[in-house]
Amino acid sequence: MKPIIEPINIPQDQLNELKALFANPKQPDLHKSVVLRKVSGGACLSCGSIPSHIVKYKVYGMTKIEKYCQSCLERLVTNKTKVNR
Ligand SMILES: [Zn+2]
Repeated sequence: MKPIIEPINIPQDQLNELKALFANPKQPDLHKSVVLRKVSGGACLSCGSIPSHIVKYKVYGMTKIEKYCQSCLERLVTNKTKVNR
């Protein structure tokens, strides 16, 4: 089954805020995940950081949606499928 891969469009200013938040070790993880959920709908399924792409699979007529960051996505799709950007 070939997944559909779509980029997540996070406005640049929000993305910068997210990156600053995630780079701050004083911020609790719970707060990071709440903010991330608001901005991008959730964290990277694999490593829990800021996702850059949505991966959709059709499974038994239903669409399964997963989110991955750039590096996890590249690991996931290596030798499997091409990433549409
Ligand atoms: Zn990741």
